[in-house]
Amino acid sequence: MKRVLILGGTGDATQLAAKAATIPVEIISSLAGRTTNPISPTGNVRIGGFGGETGLTNYIKEMNIDILIDATHPFAAQISFNAAIAATNTNIPRLMLIRPTWEKQPGDIWIEVDSVESAAATLHNHAKKVFLTVGKQQLPAFAKLSDIWFIMRLIELPLPSTAVPQGIFLCDRGPFSLDNEREILQKYNIDTIVSKNSGGDATIAKIIAAREFGIPVVMVNRPPTPPGERVSNVDEALIWLMKKLDNN
Ligand code: NAP
Repeated sequence: MKRVLILGGTGDATQLAAKAATIPVEIISSLAGRTTNPISPTGNVRIGGFGGETGLTNYIKEMNIDILIDATHPFAAQISFNAAIAATNTNIPRLMLIRPTWEKQPGDIWIEVDSVESAAATLHNHAKKVFLTVGKQQLPAFAKLSDIWFIMRLIELPLPSTAVPQGIFLCDRGPFSLDNEREILQKYNIDTIVSKNSGGDATIAKIIAAREFGIPVVMVNRPPTPPGERVSNVDEALIWLMKKLDNN
């Protein structure tokens, strides 16, 4: 049976592992190990970094991986470039599963920036109460903004040693409903949202709520991805996988 490595850490990767369990293939899902209580995908799971592109290349060789599917988050750029190099080194097929970006709609007030650091610099000009949804690793970029109060939504709390801005934590995991997001914006009198352009349905409700209330969104654009075959949803990834299995 062919062995497939899915680089995960996303809902799409978890769904793909579940769907691929219905076809004759062996799946290993890989998680970075950033959260202490991750949603565990169906089937075999390994946790932790590989040790760069060389470590991933060695893992693919040692584990006799036949196919690599990079279903990591669109902002997890390093692992995607490592995957591209490792797949080339080992001459195995690689697919990127990348959900489409959110596109600006009429009524949206977006301030588009290319990095979380630029998002922090932009806030300085106009925000007082910010709904920050960029993840715990990015909190230090906002830590020096002492004139701004933040509600920081995270899957889990950062380490006590992490530099964080003033405000409160809200530990929660998507998907989030529109009512939930409306309530946060109203209850905390939010004047600005900071979001990565993650795409997908699970976290789009905050963008819709911001549109309804006329609240600006500082939208962090995605980093570049490596070249290579790509699909935009789980079903397309499954079809790609089945074709690859048929051809081998
Ligand atoms: P990153 O910057 O691209 O990767 C940094 C390092 O983390 C990689 O070099 C690799 O370590 C390790 N790594 C990342 N993903 C891995 C995986 N699936 N399996 C094993 N090792 C992995 O990634 P990141 O932005 O820190 O994100 C880490 C994980 O969280 C990813 O799996 C991603 O899908 C998920 N995630 C990220 C975001 C986000 O906004 N960045 C949001 C939601 C979920 P080695 O070099 O040692 O192999």
